[in-house]
Amino acid sequence: MSDVIYLDNNATTMVAPEVVEAMLPFFGDMYGNASSMHSFGGQVGKYIAAAREQVAALLGAHPEEIIFTSCGTESDNTAIQSALLAQPDKKHIVTTRVEHPAVLNTVQYLEKRGYKATYLGVDAKGRLDLDELRAAIRKDTALVSVMYANNETGNMYPIPEIAAIAAERGVLFHTDAVQAVGKTPFSLADMPVNYLALSGHKLNAPKGVGVLYARKGTPVRPLLKGGHQERGRRAGTENSPYIVGLGKACELAGKYMNEERTRVRVLRDRLENGLLERISDCIVNGDTENRLPNTSSIAFKYVEGEAILLLLDEHGICASSGSACTSGSLEPSHVLRAMGVPFTFAHGSIRFSLSRYTTDGQIDAVLRVMPSIIARLREISPFAAHARQMEQAGKDACEGCGNARICGQ
Ligand code: PLP
Repeated sequence: MSDVIYLDNNATTMVAPEVVEAMLPFFGDMYGNASSMHSFGGQVGKYIAAAREQVAALLGAHPEEIIFTSCGTESDNTAIQSALLAQPDKKHIVTTRVEHPAVLNTVQYLEKRGYKATYLGVDAKGRLDLDELRAAIRKDTALVSVMYANNETGNMYPIPEIAAIAAERGVLFHTDAVQAVGKTPFSLADMPVNYLALSGHKLNAPKGVGVLYARKGTPVRPLLKGGHQERGRRAGTENSPYIVGLGKACELAGKYMNEERTRVRVLRDRLENGLLERISDCIVNGDTENRLPNTSSIAFKYVEGEAILLLLDEHGICASSGSACTSGSLEPSHVLRAMGVPFTFAHGSIRFSLSRYTTDGQIDAVLRVMPSIIARLREISPFAAHARQMEQAGKDACEGCGNARICGQ
């Protein structure tokens, strides 16, 4: 698999060799428990403290505001639960239609238990209307939760402004920054964010470690009941190898981000513009003015994303589609649906997500193979014929077509 062209970095990233090296001693001689009284364990605690400082430095936070967790999902869940449990008289949450399931499914779960939620819509480019946000905040709003950057389109939301709106109204604010950390610089010193979630495996640390940032004075109610680790805010013996790895990954992100994000942006734009030039009937999903530098979501009309992925895979190219392939249906993702991307396009959406390890040669390879993949699929796919037929009848591909086999409805 060494020749693999990995353009799926919003799904997960390679663990950086420097991170592996930093972690190795903690799988070997340094296996002590950081909470032990003896110095053998205590020395591990010092490395965890150093990792906490490395994470805090990347975020512009204080080390004591950093809580190590098992993943981004746990951090999001803890933030949302903490805001609600700490304010039992407030039963309302404001969030958006384009959040990751780590937030959306948590809020939907809470709705079934008596909480109320407002889901802010987005426009065709996936942008929020901040007046709609202002109007959505009520007296009983416990939390506003808006992601920093969207995993599918790469859209970045104006978090400093949104956090300020929540703060003015005295409402706690959470941001899922899982896709943003390490890809775009920001400082929590400059914005009144209460909770922020990040995930190790999106920034070249391993899977199974994350962080919840909780601003000083912001309530935290641990999800797991147990020991007093993380100052009583997250029970469970610290995952010292992964925490040390995450610290190193944050240090590397801080070191490389400015230089690399420009290089990655240039590669991403070359890929995107190259595809738009070579292939007819395709559009870019999202807000090209405010996007992560590594992400490009492109919708290819008349084709199925899954079919594109399979053919790319034959060339060793890894990307993602904009469909959730659940129970045999190929529904476009909730993000593309919220943006109102026509089905004929949304069905064929592909997300390419680059990293600091992406090379010019890899972009050339994608530009070489994509035009023939799309041309072939447009020729042979039953969906293409069907979508064209529906279009001639003045309809979007799935608009009441009743053709479950092709459209998945
Ligand atoms: N939030 C966003 C925006 C994500 O992209 C992801 C992962 O895909 C998560 C949360 C969940 O992170 P984890 O896989 O660490 O639980």
